[in-house]
Amino acid sequence: GEKSVKEVFEDTLKKYSLETVVRVVETGCMGACDLGPILVIYPEGVFYQKVNAENAAQIVEEHILKGRVVEKLLYKGDTGELKTKPQEELPFFTEQVKIATRNLGVIDPLSIDEYIARDGYFALHKVLFEMGPDKVIETLKKSELKGRGGAGFPTWMKWDFAKKAQGNPKYIICNADEGDPGAFMDRAVLEGDPHTIVEAMTIAAYTVGAQKGFVYVRAEYPLAIERLSFAMEKAREYGFLGDKILGTDFSFDLEIRIGAGAFVCGEETALINSIEGKRGIPRVKPPFPANKGLWGKPTLLNNVETYANIPPIIINGGEWFSQYGVEGSKGTKVFALAGNVKNTGLVEVPMGITVRKLIYDIGGGIPRGKRLKAVQTGGPSGGCIPLEHLDTPITYDNLKKLGTIVGSGGMIVMDEDSCMVDVAKYFLEFTVEESCGQCTPCRDGTRRMLEILERITEGEGTMEDLELLKELGENIMATSLCGLGQTAPQPVLSTMRYFWHEYEAHVLEKK
Ligand code: SF4
Repeated sequence: GEKSVKEVFEDTLKKYSLETVVRVVETGCMGACDLGPILVIYPEGVFYQKVNAENAAQIVEEHILKGRVVEKLLYKGDTGELKTKPQEELPFFTEQVKIATRNLGVIDPLSIDEYIARDGYFALHKVLFEMGPDKVIETLKKSELKGRGGAGFPTWMKWDFAKKAQGNPKYIICNADEGDPGAFMDRAVLEGDPHTIVEAMTIAAYTVGAQKGFVYVRAEYPLAIERLSFAMEKAREYGFLGDKILGTDFSFDLEIRIGAGAFVCGEETALINSIEGKRGIPRVKPPFPANKGLWGKPTLLNNVETYANIPPIIINGGEWFSQYGVEGSKGTKVFALAGNVKNTGLVEVPMGITVRKLIYDIGGGIPRGKRLKAVQTGGPSGGCIPLEHLDTPITYDNLKKLGTIVGSGGMIVMDEDSCMVDVAKYFLEFTVEESCGQCTPCRDGTRRMLEILERITEGEGTMEDLELLKELGENIMATSLCGLGQTAPQPVLSTMRYFWHEYEAHVLEKK
């Protein structure tokens, strides 16, 4: 509803000849999904929530013209206490450490000047004129940043491999094919702060010696595509992209490639095939893209959130970034809170935060006084964290031990009424649909697993089915070609591990 709010707001300003006095700035996502559309009046910083076209006019007439706060649109929270500036008081906002999402909800994504005013392109300048490629890699090593797309591979190592790889030309790719149901942080960054991706990719290109880059964005993100294209145009105009960047001999340019929405194209080699115009199916690895990627040439590929961390790391140093987080999982991570949690939305928090703090302090707990049952992390490639592990710090290793992954940061909260067998079935239906069909374990195995789950949920399953389900899952994970098949059974195996009694109940209490 944001578009109509903006229209009415601007029309009402015009009606009172205020259009030159009050500037309306459309920002990116502030993360608080359940409070939107949000309208903040500056300089006071008064925060209006759930604004619609009708009350937008009222804000102009009451707040702007008469200086009276419109109380009914203020945040009330659980206690009913009115808060004029929840962004300065609520744990949802105050407990976050925003690095990758630092500019979201702050700047106008269509204004390169506002990006520059927030230190934008300063990191690029520093890299070109002060640091040079080796220092960039050293800084990334100190930062201990790991790939935020799912695999959690050390970013500095990837950049170093691509830098040292023999071959010409080299390519830079940004994976913006965000396909996990419930995850939308990459979209938010592209829509709210597109220049950060342009800047980070240009830094990456200079570091590894590339002249050409591609941003692979899914077609379902038209606003992200529009804003990124505009940012690229502006960056060229200002000399941050294109020929002889900032007057140096370094040239680099970007192109957007639009993906048709196949989940498997988020896998790096399938994505590369897709950019090459081939069918988007994964390749056998090795060789890895750093040595033999796009058109067989060395290619550096990171996802949106990983790139969004690069400029602040370059400006503030690797140690600054690694002060956040815990051993083995440094920095911050953006999570997309969804499901049975009060404060749904995007949050960026230091790694190592406990699941409890994330769900109860920042997320506000479970609605309607229900009890938490489990949290699904990592989307269709992940698994669940049950109630008894609520105090587990969120790190790459800890979640792996629990049988799930950090993944891209999707976090679906489930209350006591959720059926874990249904949850597993939902994710498996998704991967069956999205399997590229190239290899047998994934193509046929996941289908057989789904058939068994359907039998079980229809009250036709047997105890043998449960055994077979487990065995099939383990074999598919061990023998599939790519990450999609290697992780597809995880939601089933993970729920079987923690909620075996629910599977048993489905089988034993037949209809
Ligand atoms: Fe395709 Fe699945 Fe095999 Fe991956 S594991 S190559 S998605 S069939």
